[in-house]
Amino acid sequence: MSKLMEKADVTIIGGGIMGLSTAYHLAKSGSNVILVEMGKIAAGASGCNNGEFSRGYGESGELGIYAGSYKMYEDWSKSGELGYDIEFEVDSEIWLLTDEHIESMKHGPWKRRLEIWEKAGRRPLKRDEWKISEPNISEDIKWGIETTVNTINIWKVCHGLAQTAKKYGAKIFTHTKVNDIEVKKDKVENV
Ligand SMILES: Cc1cc2nc3c(=O)[nH]c(=O)nc-3n(C[C@H](O)[C@H](O)[C@H](O)COP(=O)(O)OP(=O)(O)OC[C@H]3O[C@@H](n4cnc5c(N)ncnc54)[C@H](O)[C@@H]3O)c2cc1C
Repeated sequence: MSKLMEKADVTIIGGGIMGLSTAYHLAKSGSNVILVEMGKIAAGASGCNNGEFSRGYGESGELGIYAGSYKMYEDWSKSGELGYDIEFEVDSEIWLLTDEHIESMKHGPWKRRLEIWEKAGRRPLKRDEWKISEPNISEDIKWGIETTVNTINIWKVCHGLAQTAKKYGAKIFTHTKVNDIEVKKDKVENV
């Protein structure tokens, strides 16, 4: 088995969205970065997901992360920073609810979520209040929460991040597996 001989300030293990995003941001801000991926770029969960991001289920921290993600993807979409059209889209969505759902949402974790949603302008609406017309759904569905869902093309985002991180100086090695991490005096010596 051959070993990779490189020196870096930061070694990132894994070429999924997390590792690639970290490599991109660190390289852009001037760090000497290496990323190693045992397969190809986006070989794991990042290569097979829906590319959706939404407001989340309600805690205020999630809303902050959502707002940051929205702005970042919108900026990349407009500027072409990643070298691809990342297909950033915003679609309407409605969550369909029965009376039983509404009743159960008055207790437990949903109670808190509903309170937070209401502060953000989202609340269950009766059918005749919906902006999105859904005439063909079951009569049992008496309520809906109107929201939006945002999508990006995750494959293009991952490959765009890899290429752009390299442009900023990151070194990316695919088909390279990390087998061990050597730590001396609380410091990573070797990966
Ligand atoms: C079907 C599905 C749909 C999803 N839909 C969404 C969605 O719409 N929106 C959303 O936000 N999230 C979604 N997710 C979740 C999202 O995909 C993951 O949270 C995210 O991709 C995790 O990214 P990651 O970089 O941490 O992991 P991964 O993408 O799995 O990357 C980890 C990488 O590390 C590599 N690796 C592992 N061990 C080693 C090693 N020893 N040496 C070198 N490399 C190694 C792997 O090969 C892999 O490429 C979905 C997930 C799935 C499965």
